[in-house]
Amino acid sequence: MNRSTLLQRVREAGVVGEGGAGFPAHVKYDAQVETVIANGCECEPLLYTDQHIMLRHAGEIVAALKAVMAAMGASRGIVAIKHKYTDIAARMEAAVAGTGIDLAQLDNFYPAGDEHVLVHELLGRSIPPLGLPKDVGAVVANVGTLYSVSRAMNGQAVTHRVVTVTGEVARPSVLTVPVGTAAVECIDACGGPVVGDPVYLLGGPMMGRFVGDPEEMRRTVVTKTGGGLIVLPRGHYLHRMATLSVREMQKQAGAACIQCRYCTDLCPRHNIGHGFETHRVMRAFGGGVDTAMGVLQASMCSECGVCELFACPMRLSPRRINAMFKAKFRQEGLKYEGSREIVDAQSILNSFRKVPTTRLAIKLDLLKYMGIHPEDGGEFTPGSVCIPLHQHTGAPAVARVRPGDAVKSGDLIGEIPEGALGARVHASLTGTVTDVGSAVSIKGK
Ligand code: SF4
Ligand code: SF4
Repeated sequence: MNRSTLLQRVREAGVVGEGGAGFPAHVKYDAQVETVIANGCECEPLLYTDQHIMLRHAGEIVAALKAVMAAMGASRGIVAIKHKYTDIAARMEAAVAGTGIDLAQLDNFYPAGDEHVLVHELLGRSIPPLGLPKDVGAVVANVGTLYSVSRAMNGQAVTHRVVTVTGEVARPSVLTVPVGTAAVECIDACGGPVVGDPVYLLGGPMMGRFVGDPEEMRRTVVTKTGGGLIVLPRGHYLHRMATLSVREMQKQAGAACIQCRYCTDLCPRHNIGHGFETHRVMRAFGGGVDTAMGVLQASMCSECGVCELFACPMRLSPRRINAMFKAKFRQEGLKYEGSREIVDAQSILNSFRKVPTTRLAIKLDLLKYMGIHPEDGGEFTPGSVCIPLHQHTGAPAVARVRPGDAVKSGDLIGEIPEGALGARVHASLTGTVTDVGSAVSIKGK
């Protein structure tokens, strides 16, 4: 398939990056690079979503990787997984045989799947701070995204999502559900919560978002980018950390930050050579400074959570404080304009400072869930779906349907606005459109 046909099909199918912020794939792949990396290093503890897809679709992932390599003029392709995925390794080895694509197996550390960390591990190059893999001649594609690319090559739109449902549920499972399925229905399909006052983590334990309000949870749906639903008891360590107020974080930073700099020394971005020192942000924040140039360093933070949930002996909140500064800078139009040099001396220490996933789980008070291998829950089809028109980077899609319209699964319901960055949205259920607003609701037949 030639380059323009591939990009056209990926655009028509509404493929977005499924491992992150949902960047439209037809825009990401419209560039020239040397290396394309298929990212199968699912690094968040408890999630099995990418592993589930790789076990079942190794051949399709490799076929899509070859097509993306050809479209981007890449001479090298790498499928990156973890050493511990022995079943997946066997399938991937068979899938890449004779293609010239390499299979790389990484140790089980966090965050092995972060683009900057992965590129550094595989290519020995550091992407500059605030840069992209293409700055060093690479592009990283999540394996779930590549599976969607393989379907797009056959004219199939993105309609379903694989989701790990785990934690305090009766039957932890990996489900395949239509995009727009209510999160609570996914949890109920797994037997429901087994704790009296649950809270819900959307995504993984390190980078996911908590929903503690039952009303908000009822409105929450599965999107193209959401691969995890974790049920925890209210008041769990992670929940307490996620719900500290800014005032509490500031008081704690001022009173308890001992400037030991473990947060900096274990920061994965610092350790690939970024001149970012988060203990300095903490010092400024604890002292009440919030717009100094030094604090603009916070822009380099990936919000991986290592500093906050693993490194800090005082259990302070450097990640949340960086995230808060980043939001403030965006609002005020402030940009980091300091050095983007790579500090080689820092990356020399990188291999000694990786965070083993099991030790991380102990620190997160998640060890009791680590032994759970979610069962294959198969496909779950709800009676209705509510499909957001904005589940990707860029502008929201513009609705192409009205209440009362009959739609089939795969029909276009949201178009990219003229001239904008965005992604198409498709019906994930066959039925009748019941409501159109910022989302399209469909009642199944
Ligand atoms: S690790 Fe914690 S106590 Fe040490 S410098 Fe960082 S925020 Fe402060
Ligand atoms: S969250 Fe912490 S460890 Fe992760 S990049 Fe930001 S400062 Fe570094």
